[in-house]
Amino acid sequence: MKKKVLISACLLGKNCRYNGGHSKLTELEEIDMEWISVCPEESGGLGTPRPSAEMQENAETILNGKGKIITNKGKDVTAEFIQGAEKSLQLGLEAEVKFAVLKSKSPSCGIGKIYDSSFTKTLKSGNGIFAHLCHENDITCISSDNTSQIKKTLAKLK
Ligand code: SF4
Repeated sequence: MKKKVLISACLLGKNCRYNGGHSKLTELEEIDMEWISVCPEESGGLGTPRPSAEMQENAETILNGKGKIITNKGKDVTAEFIQGAEKSLQLGLEAEVKFAVLKSKSPSCGIGKIYDSSFTKTLKSGNGIFAHLCHENDITCISSDNTSQIKKTLAKLK
């Protein structure tokens, strides 16, 4: 039986990015997994395309109700981000996944580095909301930027 791995849907070519595009990672085509494909922002009801959004504080602070995620138009979309991240996590937990391959730099899926809320493409340390919830639930997250790590880690699952 194939192993199940959570994945950001845009990495499989789904046009669910804020700008209506995708971030297809062609390297994934040679990996034989059962992908549990999620897009936390669509699951939160934000729709596609949608205004870009960035995190004003870190994920833990936002999940504790003391921070916000704001669009480039100034709209507070914190509740939608959290709701979508929780729904996506639930799918992963139901499938009993241990690993997730997530799109870098996203305020939902980013690992280690995210945009800093200035909307100037400036990065700061931190995880997206969904990535943070995955970590909290013992799901090991691998960034889409680290293709050699993705291949090495998933090869060991077979
Ligand atoms: S990075 Fe995550 S939230 Fe953004 S489009 Fe991809 S799957 Fe959806």
